[in-house]
Amino acid sequence: MSAPQAEAVVDLDAYRDNLAALAECAPDAALMAVVKADGYGHGMAECARAAREAGASWLGVATPDEALRLRSSGDEGPLLCWLASPGADFAAVIQAGVQVTASSVAQLEEILAAAPSRVPLQLKVDTGLSRNGAFGDEWPRLVEAAGRAQAAGRIELTGVWSHFACADEPDHPANDAQEKAFADALDVVTAAGLEPGLRHLCNSAGTIARPSAHLDLVRVGISSYGLAPAKTMTVDVPLRPVMTLRGRLAAVKRVPAGTSVSYGHTFTTDRETTLGLVPLGYAEGVPRVASNRAEAAFAGQRVPQVGIVCMDQIVVDLGDLPAERGDVVTLFGPGDDGEPSAQDWADAADTITYEVVTRIGGRTVRTYR
Ligand code: PLP
Repeated sequence: MSAPQAEAVVDLDAYRDNLAALAECAPDAALMAVVKADGYGHGMAECARAAREAGASWLGVATPDEALRLRSSGDEGPLLCWLASPGADFAAVIQAGVQVTASSVAQLEEILAAAPSRVPLQLKVDTGLSRNGAFGDEWPRLVEAAGRAQAAGRIELTGVWSHFACADEPDHPANDAQEKAFADALDVVTAAGLEPGLRHLCNSAGTIARPSAHLDLVRVGISSYGLAPAKTMTVDVPLRPVMTLRGRLAAVKRVPAGTSVSYGHTFTTDRETTLGLVPLGYAEGVPRVASNRAEAAFAGQRVPQVGIVCMDQIVVDLGDLPAERGDVVTLFGPGDDGEPSAQDWADAADTITYEVVTRIGGRTVRTYR
């Protein structure tokens, strides 16, 4: 088969190694590999298989649809989903052996209405992120309703959990406050005579920086893909970026000084140079806002991306480097060939690595090694 013109190379050995390193970081907790959003852009089914091989006892996704897709790909192990609007097909998800999360009494009722028999169920409490999870007085109401449902044989409470807001800033006072709020929420569960099952609070940042919050299970996403939860965070776990994004030159041209490039002519050459056309554009997830700010690697050297990022393509300024159509340009990766990191592209786009990698798609072919 001919080489793809644009590909995201996903290094599953690196992914497995990252998961093993994260498991070592939280040795007393079970490991959940978070593979939502198509495995953060790395491919949900492939990452799920590799995560199980690496010893992740749990997988996590956001939506019921993602959970069903994962089941269709053959995964049969413990799987949790947590983001469902009214109308979600809970019956299908429960039938598929996926554990669901109730964040409110209303949601618990929806789940019970759909459930054919006894449902393994987790409860989510909002300890300060103000997204999902029962907030304030809703929490004791939810616990009470879950207690009634359990007594009636309708549910089996298998977990109680929450999510950090500021764990990537380890000294942020919200972290202590959320840990305390979670402990209080667990007290409500035990006071109601219920066993909480798995207690979990940590994302990647919590797993790396907050052992006191590891509890029974940690849920790792971004770090498993080899990226730090925040640029500013010290990460002393050995992580290796999993994705390399590269394309093969579709056109190469030698141009004189004064040549303007791409829509709007936002870049003009100041010398004779070689321009290379890379078939990756914003439809593939290359951030347009990074136009004229990012770099790529060509033949082991950094080269600037010039002109506006287009839908299908970008231009790189190759200077006097010898180049031919078909030669490879790497936008980001682990740095083995001198390429920038996903963090460099995130910086150029004023965003975070999560957004950079999850957006990679469009016509990009994913290849696995
Ligand atoms: N747990 C939940 C509920 C999440 O929504 C996410 C992702 O945002 C994660 C864990 C993983 O977070 P991270 O990618 O920061 O490790």
